[in-house]
Amino acid sequence: MRKVTVIGSGFSGLAAASFVAKQGCEVTLIEKNSSIGGRARAFSAAGFTYDMGPSWYWMPDIFERFFAEFGKKPSDYYNLVQLDPGFQIVFGKDDTLAIPAKLEGIYEVFESIEKGSADKLKQFLEEGAFKYKVGMNELVYKPSFSWLEFASMEVITGAARLHMFKPVSKYVRGFFKDERLIALMEFPVLFLGAMANQIPALYSLMNYAALSMGTWYPMGGMIEIVKGMESLALSMGVQVKTGCEAEEIVVAGNRAKEIRTNNGVIATDGIIASGDYHHIEQNLLAKEYRTYSEDYWDKRTLAPSSLIFYLGVSKKIKKLIHHNLFFDASMDQHSKEIYEQPEWPSSPLFYVCCPSKTDPMVAPIGMENLFILIPIAPGLEDTQEIRQKYFDIVIKRLEDLCGDEIKSYIVYNKSYCVNDFKADYHAYKGNAYGLANTLRQTAALKPSMRNKKVKNMFYAGQLTVPGPGVPPALVSGQVAAQQLLKNLK
Ligand SMILES: Cc1cc2nc3c(=O)[nH]c(=O)nc-3n(C[C@H](O)[C@H](O)[C@H](O)COP(=O)(O)OP(=O)(O)OC[C@H]3O[C@@H](n4cnc5c(N)ncnc54)[C@H](O)[C@@H]3O)c2cc1C
Repeated sequence: MRKVTVIGSGFSGLAAASFVAKQGCEVTLIEKNSSIGGRARAFSAAGFTYDMGPSWYWMPDIFERFFAEFGKKPSDYYNLVQLDPGFQIVFGKDDTLAIPAKLEGIYEVFESIEKGSADKLKQFLEEGAFKYKVGMNELVYKPSFSWLEFASMEVITGAARLHMFKPVSKYVRGFFKDERLIALMEFPVLFLGAMANQIPALYSLMNYAALSMGTWYPMGGMIEIVKGMESLALSMGVQVKTGCEAEEIVVAGNRAKEIRTNNGVIATDGIIASGDYHHIEQNLLAKEYRTYSEDYWDKRTLAPSSLIFYLGVSKKIKKLIHHNLFFDASMDQHSKEIYEQPEWPSSPLFYVCCPSKTDPMVAPIGMENLFILIPIAPGLEDTQEIRQKYFDIVIKRLEDLCGDEIKSYIVYNKSYCVNDFKADYHAYKGNAYGLANTLRQTAALKPSMRNKKVKNMFYAGQLTVPGPGVPPALVSGQVAAQQLLKNLK
C-alpha cells in the first residue's frame, strides 16, 4: 500500500487526504496546530463560540460536488440554512442596502435605486451564469500546468463572453451607474484578494454565486464543515496527527522519501503540501529542490491580511444582521493603502459577522457574538498599540452607525492579526487569504501545483490554483490528489 503524507489540515488538506485515501493509499495527515481546520478553526471562550476565519458560505454546489464524490451530501454532516437577507451593506447611518435571498426581491431593490437596473441585473446574471458554468466545468478543476488544458470547445467558442481581459470594475460600470449598486457588484470579487479594477471580469461569476445561489450558514458555524470533512476523512481511513509539524522533507533521486517532524520521522511515497507554499518550499526543502526563489515570492501580489476582533457583547444589537459590510468610508483610499502604498488604513472599511442572529449556539441568550474584520496590507507592523487604536476607531464607528452603545457591553475581546497568522500558519507576510487572483496570477501563472524537481510532491491550498476561498480550497485538494495519484501509478 502506498504511503501518502498530507501536510496541513485546512480545507485543501482535508479534501486531498480523503481523495487519496479513497484510492487505497495509506494516508497520514499532519497538522502543526493542536486542532484541525487551518484558517477555519474555531474556539470557545466565555460562553461564545467563534469561527476564526471564513464565515461566508457561497457556492453550495461545490460542497455538494465534493461530498458526492464519496456518495455523501453536506446534509449528512451539517444543517445548512439560507440567510434572508443574505447580507447588508451600510453606506451611512440611514443608508443601508439589504440583499434579499430571492432574486425577485433583489430585482426590486435594484429598481428602487436605479430605474431600469433590474433588467440590467437580469442580463448581468445571465452572463454570470454562463461564466459560472464554464468556470466550474472547464476551468477550475484543472491542475493548470499548461494553457492547453483549457482549450475546450466551450471555452474557445465562448471566449468573448468570458471577459478574461476586461476588469470587473469596467464591466460592472457598463451595467450600473449608482455608486451603491456598483459597490455591491464589486464587493464579491474582494474575496479574490484584489480590487475590482485588477480582477478579470470572468470572476463576475462570483456575483452569480452571491446573488443567484444565495448566502448560506451551517448551523453551529463553519467549523461544522471541518468536522464533517474530518469525519469523512476518518471513515476513509486517514490517520490525523495534530501537534505534528513538518520540519524537513528528505529527497533522494528526485523523490521525497521522508518527512522529519517535531514528533518523529514519517516515511512516505508521496506528499501533498497544503500548508503555506512559501514556507514549505523555503524552509522544508533544500535549495536545489525549490521551484521558486525568494525574489519570485516577493514579487507576487498577495491577498490582504486582516485585523480581526472576536467580541462577546452582553446585549442584542438591533441594526446588525448576520453579515454586515461597513462601506461608509472611501474604498479607493483603503485599497490604495492595501495594494499601492501598504500602510495602516486612514479610514478603514470593515466587515462584521454576527452569527448569533442566526444561531443560538454561538452566544449566551440575549448576547451577540461579533467577528469584526478590517482588511489590511500583508506584512504591516503589528503591535498591541496599533490593534487598540483600530479597535477604538471601529467600535466608535459601529456605535455611531448602529445607533447603539456597544463598548461598555463588551464581555469578551480577543484580537488576531499579522503576527498570529505567521505564528499559527507560517503565513507568508502574515497573509490571510493567499494570493490575489489578478490576471497575472491566474491559472498557469500561479505558483504551480507540482514541484518541478521533486516528482512525488504536489501543493494544494490558497497559494496555488485555483485560489483563495473555501470552495477553491476543496477543488485544490481534489486536483492535487488526482495529480499525486497519477504520479504514484
Ligand atoms: C479571516 C479570514 C476570513 C475568511 N473568510 C472567508 C469566507 O468568508 N469565505 C471563504 O470562502 N473563504 C474565506 N477565507 C479564505 C479561506 O478560509 C481560505 O482560503 C481557506 O480556508 C484556506 O484553506 P487552505 O487549506 O489553503 O489553508 P489553511 O486553512 O491555512 O490550512 C493550512 C494548514 O497547514 C498547517 N501547516 C502549515 N505549515 C505546516 C507544517 N510545517 N507542518 C504541519 N502543518 C502545517 C497550518 O497550521 C494550517 O492548519 C477567509 C480566510 C480568513 C483568514
